[in-house]
Amino acid sequence: MPTPPTTILLRYGELALKGGNRNFFEKRLAENIEAATAHIAKVKVSRQRGRMTAVLKDNLDRIERVAQRIAEVPGLSSLSLCIPCEQDPDAISALINEKLLERFEFTEASAPSTTFRVETKRADKSFPMSSMELDHYVSKRIPESIWDKIQVQLKRPELVIGIDIRPGHAYIYFGRIEGIGGLPVGSQGRAMCLLSGGIDSPVAAYFAMKRGCRVDFVSFLSPPYIGEPTRLKLEKLVRKVGRFQPKNRLHLVPFTEIQEAIRDDAPEGYRTILYRRMMQRIATKIAKRSRGKAILTGESIGQVASQTLSNIACIEEASSLPVLRPLIGLDKLETILVARQIGTFDISNLPEPDCCTVFMPRGPVIHGQLEYCHSAEAGLDMKGLVDRALNGIEVMDIEAHG
Ligand code: ATP
Ligand code: MG
Repeated sequence: MPTPPTTILLRYGELALKGGNRNFFEKRLAENIEAATAHIAKVKVSRQRGRMTAVLKDNLDRIERVAQRIAEVPGLSSLSLCIPCEQDPDAISALINEKLLERFEFTEASAPSTTFRVETKRADKSFPMSSMELDHYVSKRIPESIWDKIQVQLKRPELVIGIDIRPGHAYIYFGRIEGIGGLPVGSQGRAMCLLSGGIDSPVAAYFAMKRGCRVDFVSFLSPPYIGEPTRLKLEKLVRKVGRFQPKNRLHLVPFTEIQEAIRDDAPEGYRTILYRRMMQRIATKIAKRSRGKAILTGESIGQVASQTLSNIACIEEASSLPVLRPLIGLDKLETILVARQIGTFDISNLPEPDCCTVFMPRGPVIHGQLEYCHSAEAGLDMKGLVDRALNGIEVMDIEAHG
């Protein structure tokens, strides 16, 4: 009977550097993995001697799906599907051979051979062979019938055959699945992402999640100019990018009255900057309600008129929280590449309008000045506008698709 994998070996990269905080990081990571996989199988993550493993408590046939899902949880460099084995060189070698024969059973004789290396790790130092001795022992016992199909190569082989010697038992595994790296979501506090329907802000949200921030979302909508289709698009975006964190909340802020007031009572060239200042101001207030520590945007330098350094400075001044811009140094093409990888690109490309296209100025100011922003805002009922927008907020808790 074939021996199936039962356990997923988890490797973390940067997390390993966190010294005293390590327990906290590992706990967060374990919780996030269990939450991310709950809809596929019951998974228990545990920690032993510097290694983490995920074990399926049911639905064992779904282990590959679970592994693919875990690979998207921030904080892991890679993972491997492990088959448990007796802690004995002959048993290990026999199991590896069984798996290799299975793997190469249907490979054509003329196919180029696969390069491989055996790689032993010993958490149990009482094991009678050194790692290298076991590597050799196993390599030498690979059956002759597949010698023409595989070939040892120590440097960058196509296939790593892993052996993990644990106290009382061992695991074997073939190759690894790359993780996305980063830090566990929730380890760095909360950030409020200004989510437009564009390509950039979902990518900014992804980068912040990858660095351990829990990301909340806020979008500004101007009905009847901007309505239901844009809102559905925003929900779809959150559903997609939200799979990198355990929970997602989207705040929808009515923005029509604010845009109309700015259109009617402020200098035309400053409209976009003033819209953005209002967004930052309101986003900051919402963020602070849930102890958010930063605002997050998809801005990068010089991409559009509102993103010159002078305009970025004018916009940022309206927020009393730090404004994070993970895309600051990326070209649009680089951002698009990430948007494709995380699956948000096609959603962002749906042609629904964003509220910033409403009452667009004919000649937007390229180098805005703060005094002008302040004097324009002095002519508006700022408190009333902000309060009414805050009172009209709709909050949605969105289940992500993973
Ligand atoms: P994006 O692709 O994210 O829309 P962009 O390159 O189109 O970015 P802008 O339209 O200038 O750039 O927007 C800059 C940032 O301002 C966005 O990345 C987003 O964080 C925020 N933003 C713009 N419009 C909205 C909106 N309607 N609701 C919430 N945030 C917005
Ligand atoms: Mg935009």
